[in-house]
Amino acid sequence: MLISLQQKNYHLNNKKKFILDSDKISFDLKHRNTIKFNISKYNNAVEKGNTQYLNIAKAKDRVSFLKREVLLNLDKYLLQFEQKFTSNGGKVFWASDAKEATDYIVDILEKNEVKLIVKSKSMVTEEIEINHVLQKHNIESVETDLGEFIVQVAGEKPYHIVTPCMHKSKEDVAELFHEKFKTPEHSSPEELTAWVRDYLREKFVSAQAGITGANFIVSDIGGIALTENEGNAFLTFSFPKIHIVVVGIEKVIPSINDFDIVWPLLSTHGTGQKVTAYNSIITGPRKSDEIDGPEEMHVILLDNGRTNLFKQKDHWEALSCIRCGACLNGCPVYRTVGGYTYNTVYQGPIGSVISPYIAGFDENYHLAFASTLCRKCSEVCPVQIDLPDLLLKTRKISIERKKYTSMEKVSISSWKNVMLNPRLLSLSPSSLKNIFVPIMMKKLWGSKRKFPRFAKEAFRRSFK
Ligand code: SF4
Repeated sequence: MLISLQQKNYHLNNKKKFILDSDKISFDLKHRNTIKFNISKYNNAVEKGNTQYLNIAKAKDRVSFLKREVLLNLDKYLLQFEQKFTSNGGKVFWASDAKEATDYIVDILEKNEVKLIVKSKSMVTEEIEINHVLQKHNIESVETDLGEFIVQVAGEKPYHIVTPCMHKSKEDVAELFHEKFKTPEHSSPEELTAWVRDYLREKFVSAQAGITGANFIVSDIGGIALTENEGNAFLTFSFPKIHIVVVGIEKVIPSINDFDIVWPLLSTHGTGQKVTAYNSIITGPRKSDEIDGPEEMHVILLDNGRTNLFKQKDHWEALSCIRCGACLNGCPVYRTVGGYTYNTVYQGPIGSVISPYIAGFDENYHLAFASTLCRKCSEVCPVQIDLPDLLLKTRKISIERKKYTSMEKVSISSWKNVMLNPRLLSLSPSSLKNIFVPIMMKKLWGSKRKFPRFAKEAFRRSFK
């Protein structure tokens, strides 16, 4: 009984925390301006990027079909990948959850007496909180993607699945680096980038292992594919002796021949580029006649709730996501409340759809209500996931599971009664309604918005 009460409080707190944090950040003008500026740059780039397609709808159709087909035959494709990859000398580990994945990684690193690893940006490694685990084992982990490095230095988590420090302006970064590394005050982005480059070079050449994610698992050749703009992932897997890849089991594409359509679609929707600057396909550790690459390569195929998501009648399609971030950038709620308010690894519309199934329904169902259902997210999604529909379905499930307070129940049933009997609205004069309704709605409406006034005459009467 005690446990269930505690759990109930925790869930209420999650929801409450979301509401309180949203209320606070929505009126933070500095935050709003930074996000507006960064997303406007993204929007311009995507508009240009889209011009490379004669028929973008067809490209989306093809990739959407491809991803669904893969999901429906996931076992076949994953086993094919494993067979090919291991025959090339790589090792595959199937991890059902974060603990199994991190235990495996720590085991490899400790066996090899690794004290320093370099890492390239990967949301899956955020999921398993590898940096936190490594720190506990006294292994230094250095993020090498510039944005990810900035949030690591700031002691924060990624704010966005593609652009982790979207919430910081160039002035914020200059101030942070001045404080942490004593770089000159007000350094320009170019000066800071040059400084980080020197700093990371040292780390790349001294690290004994590199950890990356993977944008795709390529089944027919038994490879993993990485796409990036800074060349840091390339250095992460080519300098150190050990390369460890952590990747979600849904990231499969059937063949190397699918890249002609998949890579440009991801880059156009992710950053607006025709194609990302560095694209690598890795099929195993270095062979005896090769001069570059790691001596050992491990791929960890991570489930961590994905099988549960796959079991959901409607929501399984969300596993088609290629993590381009377009739905976050398009979402008016994300742009207003920002990435941290979600308190999840994956934020925005896709985060609100998948988090209840991969990270706990009770802890995350409330995110399904954080949407205006304007449909912008499904309009921009390259793999045509009907995100608003899935959010509505989660809302329905949460009501079936009675995830509401008695106050919410009373408010909704009163609202329903009034709406079904519009005459009730005209019973009291507008002067009374203008006094009592704002008082009743005060908490819901918030303190920072003015409640609209009721017109003197009911609409039905004026209309007549
Ligand atoms: S749901 Fe669609 S738009 Fe959102 S990140 Fe995934 S692929 Fe991109």
